[in-house]
Amino acid sequence: MLSDTAKVKGLKFTFYGGADEVGGLAVTVEDGFGKVMFDYGLIPKDPPVHPLEAPPVDEIILTHAHVDHSGMIPWLTSRYQVPVHGTYPTKEVGRLLMLDSLKVARMEGYFEPYENGDVDDTMSLFTVERFDRGFNIGGTEFIPRMAGHIPGAAMFEIRGENNILFTGDIHTVETRLVPGAVVPKADVLVIESTYSGREHPDRKQTEDGLVDKVKEIVERGGQAILPAFAVGRTQELLMILEKTGYNIWVDGMGRKVNRIYGKSREYVTSHNDLKRACLRAYAVETNEDRFRSDRADVIVTTSGMLDGGPALNYIEKIRNDPKSGILMSGFQVEESNGYRLLNTGHLEINGVLEKVNCEVQRFDLSAHAGHSGLVDFVNKCDPETVMLVHGDGDRRKILADEFDGRKVFLPKKGDEIVL
Ligand SMILES: [Zn+2]
Repeated sequence: MLSDTAKVKGLKFTFYGGADEVGGLAVTVEDGFGKVMFDYGLIPKDPPVHPLEAPPVDEIILTHAHVDHSGMIPWLTSRYQVPVHGTYPTKEVGRLLMLDSLKVARMEGYFEPYENGDVDDTMSLFTVERFDRGFNIGGTEFIPRMAGHIPGAAMFEIRGENNILFTGDIHTVETRLVPGAVVPKADVLVIESTYSGREHPDRKQTEDGLVDKVKEIVERGGQAILPAFAVGRTQELLMILEKTGYNIWVDGMGRKVNRIYGKSREYVTSHNDLKRACLRAYAVETNEDRFRSDRADVIVTTSGMLDGGPALNYIEKIRNDPKSGILMSGFQVEESNGYRLLNTGHLEINGVLEKVNCEVQRFDLSAHAGHSGLVDFVNKCDPETVMLVHGDGDRRKILADEFDGRKVFLPKKGDEIVL
């Protein structure tokens, strides 16, 4: 049953971004505890899409480090010096991504919504929370719960007059890197819907297919380039490929993230497996390393969507080598260079559109729950009210149709819902 925006006094949700769009999540929740902002991100498009201007809030909760959830938090803390709650990996990786998004803005001539010093201020306001340990906001208990997705990604349970669960991004199956999301009960559920109407292929089969393809490329004398997001995907790929025994190199921001995740024992599936995989890969630290990496069998490198990063330099060297291959594994935004490669076989390198003649293949290793994962999650959580956010405007209806008997909202950017 779809509901229109109710106009009753009480618990209030306002959607400043990331409601009917994937990324840029920004939602305030107001109840007896005050006004809390959940995430304040930007969509890293060309140019970036910012959320609506936020009002003063009492506290901020950051579900995870990805820039589409964290990217505008320093803007918020520069105006309202209020506490920011999140886990250790969210804080440390978030800092890297906030600084990186500023660097990109500077390089590309985009609007710079804050300065480096504002990122430092965000960090000084950060309170590190741990899974399953409640903390207090305005007399109400907030409890971070394991969300899957990436290390440190948290859902937040609010145990007040209304039991609310805010998921952020979730994955319901265990991956090499992170355990799957737990499913708390709630009366009101605000849940991401990125993959509404779409399923993922079997993960084990996908991983096996990727390993086989890497073997094929290396055994025919080529080099496998794996463009990857620094956060989560780089580490997962290193874990998947560790047992091949090949000469694997890692370049880009992923190296720094490896070090943070190395100190995040309680947030990963297997700390030992992760540490072993990261230690086994050679990190490209200097230009000399970059030269030596010519001998690599496999290079895992940023950026995941091929919009810059060292990946393009490596690809430039192998793009006409029929023995080599580019193996994509991340989500590709429609305007991205990676999307262009998969759909046209061309890539923009140093401002020039180049034909890519080596093998190109895509593997679905998504960090988001697929359609049936989302349906199971909602049914186990068993809320009266469901709000589907972080999804394509119309695609969310496919998911909403699964929930007969529950009150379902499909909010848009700028909407308010009062329960
Ligand atoms: Zn995310």
